[in-house]
Amino acid sequence: MTDRIGIHWFRLDLRLNDNPALYELSKEVDKIIPIYIYEENIEIGHASKCWLEKSLENLDNELSKLDSKLYVFKGNPKKIIDIIVEDKNISHFSWNRLYDKHSILRDKEIKSSLNKKSIVCNTFNGYLLSEPWEIKNKSGNFFKVFTPFWKANFEILLNKKLSLSSSSKYNFYKKNINSVLKIDELKLNIPKKEWMNKILSYWDIGENAAKLKLKKFINNKLYNYNIGRDRPDSDFTSKISPHLHFGEISPLRIFTEVMKSNIDEKNKTKYLSEIGWRDFSYNLLFNYPEMTDLPIQSKFEKFPWQRDKKNLITWKEGKTGIPIVDAGMKELYEMGWMHNRVRMIVGSFLTKNLLLHWKEGERWFFDTLVDADIGSNSAGWQWIAGSGADASPYFRIFNPILQGKKFDPKGEYVKQFIPSLDKIPEKFIHSPWEMTVEEQKKYNFILGRDYPKPIVDLSYTRKRALEAFKKISE
Ligand code: FAD
Repeated sequence: MTDRIGIHWFRLDLRLNDNPALYELSKEVDKIIPIYIYEENIEIGHASKCWLEKSLENLDNELSKLDSKLYVFKGNPKKIIDIIVEDKNISHFSWNRLYDKHSILRDKEIKSSLNKKSIVCNTFNGYLLSEPWEIKNKSGNFFKVFTPFWKANFEILLNKKLSLSSSSKYNFYKKNINSVLKIDELKLNIPKKEWMNKILSYWDIGENAAKLKLKKFINNKLYNYNIGRDRPDSDFTSKISPHLHFGEISPLRIFTEVMKSNIDEKNKTKYLSEIGWRDFSYNLLFNYPEMTDLPIQSKFEKFPWQRDKKNLITWKEGKTGIPIVDAGMKELYEMGWMHNRVRMIVGSFLTKNLLLHWKEGERWFFDTLVDADIGSNSAGWQWIAGSGADASPYFRIFNPILQGKKFDPKGEYVKQFIPSLDKIPEKFIHSPWEMTVEEQKKYNFILGRDYPKPIVDLSYTRKRALEAFKKISE
């Protein structure tokens, strides 16, 4: 009897453990061909590309320990899959589902084509705690507000018999297949190699690193998450976002491990609710597939966004003269990640003080974050711009000086990324322009020389934003 062969298509699930599609496939077939397809016409940021390359290498390495390898292709998935399945022994195909409109359409087409060829195609949830269609309110509609969404989601999870799909007995295929590429032939780390190498120096990438990071987070930081998560000057968040984005770890594993830890309920539930925001972002993306480009609240379509290339570049480069904003933008460029509190501050500054379109911020984040994620990024930007579903109200304009004083009271975060502010007294760290000329001389710090003057007046631009908002609300 010939072997029954199945194909597992790795996408944003770059892990072997707790991978439901892979696990279920292994029960159906004798051998599995693990494939990855780099889809050229899907946009992927530079920082994500460098993470992806390492993550693929890592997965390939894990597969080689099981006497196989990752079969990598580049091009149109439908065409590539049609060619691979010409091998008559292939009876099954599997993947874990994705929720953006491009993936949904593509997958539907591929599934139907496989079915026509009598190949069994099974798909699973390996990316979210619960899928968008599972969480409905009493009227059967999806939730537009986070709190009831998470309550419903959490209840479902508590009532489900959750188990991680684990096996160490996968039987992977090892044979030559035409047009398979080496990972470096994807040329993911070109053209910004130096910057990418710098970013990579901050991260350990891959499934084992993700599991270890979760373990260390639970053991050393979770006890103080509820308060510590808001402080960019300390290190109390999990930094698991890029691992979750690429599927090196599943949200279900995080949920399960956190629930069984002996940390107090307050910190546990706060952390899990943040994972819940990720599910909520995908709930929005699934139900508003255009939210990557269009405001969820349509009144924002007529918002008088400004076009100011110079201000945009100044913001990207972290040279606005507002320390906490500049520190955040420098952190982003330095390590491909930014603290959540600071993401909100730089986002509010861009969309409200500079009146620049949230799409400009979303684009820059998408290119430079290692956790750049189609759901969480567009939901985060729409939230901060005020145009989202359960968004921060537009009139809530973050005051970056007060935010800095509250969440980085000694200016340690700011000084880490802007060393020239090191020499000025603590009380001026978040507003160096308040120093008199004499004070500047005393500390050998000249505004405009050692650090830029603010590019806008915070209180004038706040009023201007409120007026603009009033107009679209009339
Ligand atoms: P932790 O505080 O340890 O949280 C654990 C996990 O919960 C995170 O890894 C993440 O998966 C999830 N999470 C936490 N907060 C949020 C949130 N507000 N929305 C969705 N999920 C959340 N997150 C991304 O993963 N990718 C993005 O592209 C992204 N873009 C953002 C853009 C803006 C403007 C804003 C305000 C937020 C954005 N976020 C994004 C959400 C959040 O900032 C990051 O998930 C978080 O900072 C990652 O760090 P962490 O893993 O240490 O978070």
